[in-house]
Amino acid sequence: MPQSCYIGRFAPSPTGPLHLGSMACALASWLDARAHDGTWLVRIEDIDPPRDVPGADRSILETLAAFGLVSDRPVLWQHDRGDAYQAALNELRRRNLAYGCACTRAEVLREAARLQLAPGVYPGTCRSGTGGRPIRAWRFRTQSRTVAFTDRRLGLYRQNVEKEVGDFVIRRADGLWAYQLAVVVDDAFEGVTHVVRGSDLIDNTPRQMLLQEALNLPTPHYLHIALVTDEAGQKLSKQTRAAAVPVDRPLTILETVGRHLGLPAIGARNLTIYLQQAVECWREMLESADRTTH
Ligand code: GLU
Repeated sequence: MPQSCYIGRFAPSPTGPLHLGSMACALASWLDARAHDGTWLVRIEDIDPPRDVPGADRSILETLAAFGLVSDRPVLWQHDRGDAYQAALNELRRRNLAYGCACTRAEVLREAARLQLAPGVYPGTCRSGTGGRPIRAWRFRTQSRTVAFTDRRLGLYRQNVEKEVGDFVIRRADGLWAYQLAVVVDDAFEGVTHVVRGSDLIDNTPRQMLLQEALNLPTPHYLHIALVTDEAGQKLSKQTRAAAVPVDRPLTILETVGRHLGLPAIGARNLTIYLQQAVECWREMLESADRTTH
């Protein structure tokens, strides 16, 4: 039974079936939780109906179960969490840390280009009001300062969110909640202490840390794992139609994914033995990483 105060999670968006890349995140977060005698949670991040694929949530949960990875508590579904996201937005508005924005995407791009900002950086057009134009989205008000954190694998990571991203969207123009807000509210709600996810998300972490600070929520420890790539060096993703992991060969897949995560070949007879031995190996890796940093 989990005994420590470690709480980790795997938080897939149901935009397609699990592929090798998402399987690597699932396994890494599970191993890290088990190696810390912690709790492992699954959260379905289904806040983007236009991108979500019907049935993908069930298929993800079934695939995880076929690999022996089962949430220690009932799965949390983000479609149930709208009130909590609204409360967070209200709190940010109350503290003048969120404001309504009337800009379309084309306007943002045009204005950013005119001001010679990097593409996509919000130029702050509606910071002091929309000038009577109707509000489309809600943005978080950033400040010009560097946010820094130490990733457990990649070390020090720094970002000036205002310069590199700009005031970012927390409620979208289509009325949907933005990932940045939902993930922060739910990690705190579930008491998550350790986030293990793909390194493609590392540049989101400073935005999430700003929201945690603004909402008075704790910041978890972060570990961003190496992405699984295809032969062409492209990141596997649902957008590039990466193949679903076959559920009939879980041991072979776990060995492959485990090797990607730096585990030795285990050659176990069955799933349970593989997972037990993989936890031992992960623990040894943590201990030796600890020895080199101290
Ligand atoms: N839902 C996100 C995804 O599937 C991951 C969110 C996270 O781990 O913070 O890409």
